[in-house]
Amino acid sequence: MKKYLFIGNWKMHKTLKETESYLVNFLEKLIDLELLDREIAIAPPFTALFLAKELVKNQPLKLVAQNSCWEEKGAFTGEISPFMLKELGVSLVILGHSERRHIFGETDEIIAKRVWGVYKFGLIPILCIGETLEERQAEKTLEVIESQLKEGLKYLKEVRGDDLVIAYEPVWAIGTGINATPSQAEEVQSFIRKKLAEIFSSEVAERIRILYGGSVTPENIEDLMKEPNIDGVLVGGASLEVEKFFKICSIKINKRTQVNTQISLPNYSNLPQEILEIPKKYRRLVIVGASPKSDRPSYIVMDYLLKQGFEVLPVNPAYKEILGQKTYPSLEEIPPEFKPEVIIIFRKSEEVLPVVERAIKVNPKVIWLQEGIYNKEAQSLAEKEGIKIIMNLCFKKVHMMGKKDKNF
Ligand code: PEP
Repeated sequence: MKKYLFIGNWKMHKTLKETESYLVNFLEKLIDLELLDREIAIAPPFTALFLAKELVKNQPLKLVAQNSCWEEKGAFTGEISPFMLKELGVSLVILGHSERRHIFGETDEIIAKRVWGVYKFGLIPILCIGETLEERQAEKTLEVIESQLKEGLKYLKEVRGDDLVIAYEPVWAIGTGINATPSQAEEVQSFIRKKLAEIFSSEVAERIRILYGGSVTPENIEDLMKEPNIDGVLVGGASLEVEKFFKICSIKINKRTQVNTQISLPNYSNLPQEILEIPKKYRRLVIVGASPKSDRPSYIVMDYLLKQGFEVLPVNPAYKEILGQKTYPSLEEIPPEFKPEVIIIFRKSEEVLPVVERAIKVNPKVIWLQEGIYNKEAQSLAEKEGIKIIMNLCFKKVHMMGKKDKNF
């Protein structure tokens, strides 16, 4: 599930002593916070990362680095490698921050190398992009954003979506006390999502978190987070105080309904009720016989569930990837730690029994068989193991939906 992301960027602030007292305080407050829909992270200076790593051990607080080189080691005086950052427990890295671009002269080329290097080592790059005041006044905002985005990502060939973060930070809003209005931020962030869909795919673009940064405070966070394309925030000044940052991280998020979205979402109301209700009951599913063809029920169901933020693994030996998800050749090969709660089987009647037998070994809570399939033997096998089996699930309408709707 895509989670909102709240990051505190401490910049060049806090000694070891200050880091310790901040974190002890902040972690105590975090105990009372429901973190089901969000992730919280802090970016201390490099000098405090080791101490921070010790303090956040087993705690729901992620560590972020403020920059990184692209190489593992070598003659790069003054730099720190992604490999070293991993050792320090870092999971995300801020890159291309406007202070790096404007004070230290980092170019798009350097930033692109950093993004690629960090990604290559399994860390999540947070690519920061944003226009200056002059560029906004000259109505060049979208042009600048598109160019920084494309340049910064140019060495990344493929991403899943959950492994990349973009932060829109208008330079005129950073540290100035003047934040972009929610609609200014939304306008640029929906544009970023559209461009990400062009660079990767719309499924990947939906999964990438796009943060807003620039004078975020406890007073303006609620309105900013209402916007559909603001998936979290990068907070500078206000993250230096425990109370303020905790207030920001703990707000109730009420998204306004997306209007004029540039990525069209199909109407899923034709899906069987059981499928529409999956998000209320389960989190992890496997679809056996997943199809890459956009008019097939398995594709439509999977597309729907992924857009709801659910974890879905496709099983199909004929394809490497479906809807941006790695596929598995058989049920035996899905990672054991995935532990699906539901297995939906799209198979012809005569092939169903052996697949159900294999599905039972994975021990899901429910097995579903598509329309037209009744198999008494499969039913008694599943029920003997205490697994609920739903047969003849109606996909007729889904099929029609795929045929008619050009959005798929
Ligand atoms: C930042 O440093 O990324 C930032 C947004 O700073 P501030 O919140 O202080 O504007």
